[in-house]
Amino acid sequence: MDLGLSAPSEIRAWKDLALFGGEPAFSNYLYVNRPNPVNRPELFERIGQMLDSGWLSNGPFVLEFEEKVAQFLEVRHCVAVTNATVGLELLVRTLGLRGEVIVPSYTFIATALALRWMGLTPVFCDVDLVTHNLDPLDVAKRINPSTAAILGVHLWGHPCDIDSLTTLAKQYSIPLLFDAAHSFACTYKGKRIGGFGQAEVFSFHATKFFSTGEGGIISTNDASLAKELRKARNFGMNEKRMVLREGTNAKMSEMSAAMGLAAFSSIPAFLAQNRANSDCYGAALKDVAGIRLHNCNPCGVNNFQYIVAELDEHRAGIGRDQLLRILNAEHCMARSYFHPGCHRETPFENSIQYELPNTDKLAARVLVLPNGMTVAKEDIQKIGSIIRSAIVQAKELPWQSLDLAGKSL
Ligand SMILES: *Cc1c(COP(=O)(O)O)cnc(C)c1O
Repeated sequence: MDLGLSAPSEIRAWKDLALFGGEPAFSNYLYVNRPNPVNRPELFERIGQMLDSGWLSNGPFVLEFEEKVAQFLEVRHCVAVTNATVGLELLVRTLGLRGEVIVPSYTFIATALALRWMGLTPVFCDVDLVTHNLDPLDVAKRINPSTAAILGVHLWGHPCDIDSLTTLAKQYSIPLLFDAAHSFACTYKGKRIGGFGQAEVFSFHATKFFSTGEGGIISTNDASLAKELRKARNFGMNEKRMVLREGTNAKMSEMSAAMGLAAFSSIPAFLAQNRANSDCYGAALKDVAGIRLHNCNPCGVNNFQYIVAELDEHRAGIGRDQLLRILNAEHCMARSYFHPGCHRETPFENSIQYELPNTDKLAARVLVLPNGMTVAKEDIQKIGSIIRSAIVQAKELPWQSLDLAGKSL
């Protein structure tokens, strides 16, 4: 594909960077993963049907959405829930887990909080520096008689080393679960994420591949688990409204399901744009010293929802947070992600602490750049040019004057 991007992004004089006195490159703010546009005619049509029918929950849209997702993921059962955090909670509770669950620290805090909220002890494990995912060797070291399960996260939509984790889980007869919040439409060895382990949990939060406002889905090939999850999410009731077990209200609303259904026809367009944007970023940042795009899915296809860059501070001559300040001043709201790691966040300060050197390294060097349908090729070229300009002129940037000016305010 010719992207017309063979020339490297241009370099701007550092004085023209917004942080040092220039005009911001973007008049409208660019965010990491603004919600992708939804098919409004289809959504409004469905909202009309929903209002006419009076079914705001327990209606036909959730069933239709579950079926569509199950078909797409090539998995037998999908249980739609309020959001992925609640989905994880419902899953570990319904499985009756007690004790410790091995989980990466380099993930969104919800993964760890869902365990803690259900009375489980997250045992934080280190990740592989190349894949950013659970390091199976480190997982093996953490397994002990109190280990109730392994919860992997397919970070950035890149699948975990599923084969190794499956072998470990079998060897110790413990369930293997996945937080698949990032992984809609991603594959591992030719199969869509969704059917691995005992169950996987997807998120449809605004920043995810597609959104239902708030929403999530638990996918599994285990029929009896799916049946229990359906009851547990609806006050423990079966279809005849008999209360057969403990439960809660974790149902997805019809409004959310309507949004999810309306997003389906756009999936190919989302994938194509994310993919093209990712290629565009690759070209714009080609040969810039010290910055590298993380793109590690040797075993499958990614949804390219996250443009993850790793900055080597020594080679680039500029720190990650300095680069973020420069980008943010241009109204490009790139962000660090999962800093400082779950194990260093307040709720887990007093938990069992292991050394997690790779987690610490990634938390310090990762930045995520804007992507999605609202980010155009020209935007990416500008972002590339800002990053290239900052790094090429790193030695000249007058941080000192800036910090002094900041203090005198
Ligand atoms: C977004 C996210 C969640 C939480 O999803 P919600 O639907 O917002 O509850 C969990 N885990 C990871 C890795 C996420 O990125």
